[in-house]
Amino acid sequence: MELDLLPLYMREFDDARTKYPQLKIVAGLECEYDKDMVQFQRDTFLGQCGMKCIAGAIHSFKHNGEWRNTFATTMDNAELHSYTDYLIEAMNAGVFTFLAHPDLFGVCHKGWDAECDACSRAIVQSAIQHDLPLEINANGVRKGLMQDGEIKRFQYPWRPFWEIVGEYGGKVLCNSDAHTPTQIWEKCDECMEFARELGLNIVNDTFYEESILKR
Ligand SMILES: [Zn+2]
Repeated sequence: MELDLLPLYMREFDDARTKYPQLKIVAGLECEYDKDMVQFQRDTFLGQCGMKCIAGAIHSFKHNGEWRNTFATTMDNAELHSYTDYLIEAMNAGVFTFLAHPDLFGVCHKGWDAECDACSRAIVQSAIQHDLPLEINANGVRKGLMQDGEIKRFQYPWRPFWEIVGEYGGKVLCNSDAHTPTQIWEKCDECMEFARELGLNIVNDTFYEESILKR
């Protein structure tokens, strides 16, 4: 999205509120983390535009000073640690309302191992420290199963990550990540079911009051 589309983007929220007064409509964006952009995001999106929600998302992260992409085909353990450090740095920045697909490393890191376990624990503990909900992302479910060694699994949500979330009692938000209007709740029931099955602390019903209205 080009920056000069922002006024139109914001106007569409106003139009939607007029058209659907029965819905709670919260203006927001999913944003990448970059330490040099945090002040801009705060001033422009939260300040000027009056948005109430920024989903923090790490599609790219710094590894040995270079950008890496989570949609790459492989990720070794050193890169996994860089991803984790970058995600924690993003949470520390304090600009995000919740964390989009924190288990996105499941796209490129094959096989759950002790490093995945350790990094997931660090991510979850940081989210709890900052009181940030972690998103179970339905777009990962819409992408279907992939082969990982002997097993078939979603790229994300990656089950062992969410078992750890459950262990710590971290807040969980089931969210569509809709890329088109027809996806507004597509596969979200599956995410809710998955979260319930693991006994997770689902905050969908309280998120608006507890996280949005506080801003
Ligand atoms: Zn994303």
